[in-house]
Amino acid sequence: MDKYRQAKKEQPVVLVVDDDIAVRMLMRESLEQAGLIVKEAENGVDALSAFEKETPDLVLLDVNMPMMNGFETCSRLRQLSRGSDVGIVIVTGLNDVKSIRRAYEVGATDFITKPVNWPILNHRVRYLLRTIDAFRDLRRSETRLSQAQSVASLGNWERDILSNKLYWSDEIYHIFGLEPQTFDVTYEAYLRSVHLEDRAYVINAVDMALHKNELYSIDYRIILPDGTERAVYEQGQTVFDETGKAIGMYGIVQDITKRKKDEARIRFLAYYDVLTGLPNRQLFKEHADRAIFAAKRDGAKVAVIFLDLDNFKRINDTLGHKAGDKLLKKISENLTLSIRSSDIVTRTEEGKQTKTSLSRLGGDEFTILLSGLSRMEQAAVVAKRIIDYVCLPMKIDGQDLYVTGSAGIAVYPDDGEDLGSLLKNADAAMYYAKDAGKNNAQFYARHMNASTLARLKMEVNLKKALELNELILYYQPQMEIQTGRIIGLEALIRWKHPEMGLISPLEFIPIAEETGLIVSIGKWVLKTACAQIMVWHRAGFIPLRIGVNLSSRQFRQRDLVESVRQVLDTTCLDPKYLELELTESIIMHNVEETITELYELKEIGLNLSVDDFGTGYSSMSYLKRFPLDTLKIDRSFVKDITTDSNDAAITKATIVLAKSLDLTTIAEGVETEEQLTFLREQGCDQVQGYLISPPVPAEKVEELLIRSYFVKAKPKHNPAL
Ligand code: C2E
Ligand code: CA
Ligand code: CA
Repeated sequence: MDKYRQAKKEQPVVLVVDDDIAVRMLMRESLEQAGLIVKEAENGVDALSAFEKETPDLVLLDVNMPMMNGFETCSRLRQLSRGSDVGIVIVTGLNDVKSIRRAYEVGATDFITKPVNWPILNHRVRYLLRTIDAFRDLRRSETRLSQAQSVASLGNWERDILSNKLYWSDEIYHIFGLEPQTFDVTYEAYLRSVHLEDRAYVINAVDMALHKNELYSIDYRIILPDGTERAVYEQGQTVFDETGKAIGMYGIVQDITKRKKDEARIRFLAYYDVLTGLPNRQLFKEHADRAIFAAKRDGAKVAVIFLDLDNFKRINDTLGHKAGDKLLKKISENLTLSIRSSDIVTRTEEGKQTKTSLSRLGGDEFTILLSGLSRMEQAAVVAKRIIDYVCLPMKIDGQDLYVTGSAGIAVYPDDGEDLGSLLKNADAAMYYAKDAGKNNAQFYARHMNASTLARLKMEVNLKKALELNELILYYQPQMEIQTGRIIGLEALIRWKHPEMGLISPLEFIPIAEETGLIVSIGKWVLKTACAQIMVWHRAGFIPLRIGVNLSSRQFRQRDLVESVRQVLDTTCLDPKYLELELTESIIMHNVEETITELYELKEIGLNLSVDDFGTGYSSMSYLKRFPLDTLKIDRSFVKDITTDSNDAAITKATIVLAKSLDLTTIAEGVETEEQLTFLREQGCDQVQGYLISPPVPAEKVEELLIRSYFVKAKPKHNPAL
């Protein structure tokens, strides 16, 4: 709390400054009678120090004093920190007009003439104290208002229409970057601060307001003397006289630059891609919807080009996300350039302008929207240019990188009536471009239907899957019925797709077959399975056999024998623990060649098994000629052996047949105890199926093995049980 308030609650303090002790005494006498506290100083210098100490509310100052006269003392007092608040009364000689003028110049509040009229003095002083009080209150509330305005960056103004003068509060000066003393505010001068482009708008809003009794609110930009631009919000209202004539206006101005910036930032985040600064999916959608709407009206065409980078994922994975981000930025720049240059191409070709806009949909996917087209070929020109610009060499972190892109084009209205179908079809066409060897663009065609597309997508992604380590092996145990022990595992591949989850080999192995990808996938499976089984061998488990499926294309691969040998060499796996599974249909195709091939494989020392036995057309005579070790009874028979006498009979016969050929039998897909019992009774050697365990990832296998030792192996060690 300040001293002023304290003093106000108590009695007011008056400082009497006079070199004449008699005058001081008389004054004290008179003022104390009126309930005031009186302090004295006998000259100007004393007065200054007494002022600091006593903090009086009023000072009575004699003019003629030694050392420092009253005028000088007055102006010195005014310079003190609390000096502006205090009332100062100068006591001059009667009719000394010069002194009176001087008194006001040096900041006196009032004057009293000598000789002093004593009876009146205290009334005069009391009256002055009251005025000073009122002034102080006013100043304080003004200060509060101006502080509040400064916090809100908000100022108030008034306009006198007759004199054309404007009153501005301090904060408006501050907002406009102007000094109150140097700027003579008229309406015209104010308008000069308004941004040129917004001036007409402001003038119009104010003119309208002058004619109606209504609050107006506008946002506009102002330019500060130093060239800075600010955004302000203004509200105003007109004051009318009794005759309805506008005589003035008043209102507020608020600095909303930060809010506008925040709004712009929010808009940017909502509509633009932060990394590249390109429009994002949302803005693309809005542009496209508008373009399609206009094309419908004008009978024009709109093309959507869908661009996907061919090898971005690999670069991202090998060089890291930071480099990947840089690459995307650079590509975005190149694409922007390419679009600018293709704008020129399409323009000069057609004489009229087409509009092109580039967006990033996410990841390494971009779209280019071409509106106002008259011919499809224009889209081809642009797409070609885009593909060319994408593969411009780039230097990222000192490395030269080359990226290519594949693009699909769909055109409104030919390939779709709305954005959704256009995008879908452009996406389909893009996959065809990838299929056609990448680094090219394809128009959408109707034959690119959903199922071929799904296949194509799978194909494109499958190629990446191997590079990205998305393929994994599961293992399914095979149990010896006699002992209850796990004696082997079949390796079964899975595709751990980042979005689609685990994909079954039934879905992707056929595609891998067709595209030839199976060769490299197959090599990976063989190597991984052999290496894994060695890990378990070395860990001290009873040596297990590993079954690896071979597909037809793999089997026909010239270097199969060589590559199997190589894998065994590098993993140090004893060949007798490897069993290659070949389906019946594979070995029955081109029998003579197969026999040679199988013998070559056998020479390595591994096992061969016939997978899915019973589903093909194996004839006994052929089977005899193949160097086989195991026969896997297909799941489809096992399924119904306990209910379907036909399946039971076939299974029985197969087991007998296998025995006669000295082949081990494994029944696949064993799910129930009943099936197991039946198979045991028929003399089947081994079983594989959910009853024992479904295929599990490698880390689960050890657990299974340990369990099989302790539970299932017990009877063997303790025949008494
Ligand atoms: P397959 O060689 O006949 O493999 C056995 C399939 O039966 C596996 O399906 C397995 O999960 C499933 N299965 C096992 N026990 C049971 C059971 O008790 N009930 C039922 N209903 N099913 C059972 P999966 O893993 O989906 O493999 C399907 C096929 O994909 C395999 O059939 C094989 O032909 C092929 N495949 C899997 N991995 C590879 C591989 O690495 N290379 C090649 N070329 N083909 C593979
Ligand atoms: Ca198999
Ligand atoms: Ca099988």
